[in-house]
Amino acid sequence: MDNSNLQELISETEKRGGGLILNFQDKPAVVVLTVDRYNQLLNQIQPKTMAIAEEASQETLSFEETDKFFAGTKGKVLVTGGAGFIGSHAAKELLLAGFEVVVLDNLSAGKRQNVPQGAKFIEGDLLDTALLRDIFAQEKFNSVLHFAASIEVEESVREPERYFENNVLNTAKLLSVMSEYKVKNIVFSSTCALYGQQKVMPINEAASIAPVNPYGYSKFLAEKIIKYYCEFAGLRAVVFRYFNACGCNFEGDVVPTHKTHLFANVMDVAVGKKQGITVFGRDYETFDGTCIRDYVHVLDIAKAHLAALEKIDEGEKFRVYNIGTGKGSSVLEVITKTAELLNKIIPMENGDRRAGDPPVLIADNTKLKNELGYILEYSDLDTIIATSWKQAQNNL
Ligand code: UDP
Repeated sequence: MDNSNLQELISETEKRGGGLILNFQDKPAVVVLTVDRYNQLLNQIQPKTMAIAEEASQETLSFEETDKFFAGTKGKVLVTGGAGFIGSHAAKELLLAGFEVVVLDNLSAGKRQNVPQGAKFIEGDLLDTALLRDIFAQEKFNSVLHFAASIEVEESVREPERYFENNVLNTAKLLSVMSEYKVKNIVFSSTCALYGQQKVMPINEAASIAPVNPYGYSKFLAEKIIKYYCEFAGLRAVVFRYFNACGCNFEGDVVPTHKTHLFANVMDVAVGKKQGITVFGRDYETFDGTCIRDYVHVLDIAKAHLAALEKIDEGEKFRVYNIGTGKGSSVLEVITKTAELLNKIIPMENGDRRAGDPPVLIADNTKLKNELGYILEYSDLDTIIATSWKQAQNNL
């Protein structure tokens, strides 16, 4: 082809928006492209081809195929935050009940020793989407118990960003990967903190959502994202709004993960690690002026998760349950009862109110009993104090 023909071909190609088909014996034989058009097409095609190739290699099953895959077995569960206080208790209960368990924890608060024997442990962060996708590609899960979160009210007031990132963003990422890999079931750790300051006690699940701290807001937002995935992406969820989780298993073999909670501080005083306890606020409108909370044993919370997995396919796709006893105890009652049962002197001093604390939180647990059939077994103060004491002695 001489230069003038070539020039003509180029200008014709440009005129047609970058592409020209040349015929030979009445059939398309050659496509002429400008360099720009060629690059443009290449960019459009490549990601698509790569995505198809990737999908084929991962053999993602549909929700129905995943159900069939696990039929006749308990299934395999991803436990996020399984090195933490509640997560490790739940992981242990799952193993005892015959589930396969994979724990994912970044150990920011959780402890490696808390991951029960028999569970596979992966150290990593939910915000690491590449890692999460790798895990879901390698392991086939049918359910996720999502505990990983930041959980301290006062800290959430000081560092709200941390709570929105760790509790909202990480949940969104987890859900998107679950949906991609067709893992249908999630049991989510939410909190009574999202009820804020309620007039009517006990609080049922239909109460207004009115959090008074970023922790409560973050869990509320996470619940909403889960609800979206249930309504529009085929997931099923049981959301548990825990009241005040405390106690320990009867072996007391879990390393404490949080130092600010009332029971942690009371036990630190009882074993002599701290001189005394500060009561945060004596001027609340309660019978003794201190905050009232509904203390629920961690074993009850862990076992309720098994009930949730058993019934996750029944009823509405997105269901919310309080986990609490229906009975409140004041800060002073907890301290005096502990002193009495352990026969210890627990010195107290009065402190200011702690930021973000609602005065009273007591659960109505009717729905938990009626729908999930779970009756609390361990959540009396005596058992809570005895098991916390065992744990405290194991961790001197
Ligand atoms: N509290 C207290 N002294 C402490 C720790 C906690 O008076 O050293 C109070 C706290 O202000 C709240 C109640 O005990 O009213 C329960 O607090 P915790 O941190 O155990 O749980 P939260 O209700 O914040 O989830």
